[in-house]
Amino acid sequence: MKASWDTQVYCLIGDPVAYTLSPVMHNTAFKKLGINGLYLAFRVPTGKLREAVEGMKALGFKGFNVTIPHKVEIIRFLDGLDRLAARIGAVNTVKNDGGRLIGYNTDGEGALRALEEAGVSPKGKNVVVLGAGGASRAICFTIAKLARKLVIANRTEDKALKLAERLRAELGVNVEVCRLLEEELAPMLAEAEILINATSVGMYPEVENSPVSSALLRRDLTVFDIVYKPLKTRLLREAELKGAKTVDGLAMLVHQAARAFEIWTGVTPPVEEMRKAALKEVRQG
Ligand code: NAP
Repeated sequence: MKASWDTQVYCLIGDPVAYTLSPVMHNTAFKKLGINGLYLAFRVPTGKLREAVEGMKALGFKGFNVTIPHKVEIIRFLDGLDRLAARIGAVNTVKNDGGRLIGYNTDGEGALRALEEAGVSPKGKNVVVLGAGGASRAICFTIAKLARKLVIANRTEDKALKLAERLRAELGVNVEVCRLLEEELAPMLAEAEILINATSVGMYPEVENSPVSSALLRRDLTVFDIVYKPLKTRLLREAELKGAKTVDGLAMLVHQAARAFEIWTGVTPPVEEMRKAALKEVRQG
């Protein structure tokens, strides 16, 4: 559709944004649904966030996504937060609701849908999540109430302890913590049914790193790696060799985008078309 004065404008703000897959996913959805919308990406360095938000508000942008390094900082500039985003303490999606900017976090829902799409539900399961950063917080707050038991393993134990404390206090759930060390992870993984890597270990360019020794992987463990660059991380390759079910980070990326699209437009986007467009871009890049 040809852009005009009444085109609904959306965007991503972050730094860097050069390799983002968000524009291709959202623009594909707009085109497929015949919506007069346009999604762009803007590099907004630290220190320029307030001006960027004021500019988007003044120009009537309908919504935007937020990525590193602004996911926490953005909260100061918003008019309201949805409950899950407030609990997580980070925002990746903002909706302009008649001039009021409301923050959401769709990462956890994206992860949950990625698992469910693969035929795996965390409901009643024993789940180990690696990492205690922003993505882990979003995932833990989304799945903690569904899981039978949740274990958070992190390199910096203190961060995992703080996250576990907040999950217990706010959701009243059963959470254990350990360090990202083979001897501490081994007994936790022996009982686990789902392993989620929410650390950045294995991400480009350090593609030969894995957060878990392959000796701890088994056929009856579902292994979900949220890293999407590369699509097949070393962790997923080793899990596949053991015959385990694997889920890659692109599935989460597509579903967190789909959830943001729903929040903005109230319309369910064509997830398969968005995935194909993102995959094409990944393979070309
Ligand atoms: P973050 O807030 O910076 O957290 C990074 C996490 O990784 C922390 O737990 C950190 O541990 C751990 N970590 C980093 N380097 C490590 C190392 N060498 N050894 C052990 N642990 C290490 O980042 P984030 O926003 O949560 O993102 C994490 C990853 O998820 C990134 O690769 C990101 O691209 C990916 N992600 C994917 C999606 C998706 O849709 N697929 C969405 C969001 C994020 P410490 O606490 O010890 O530092």
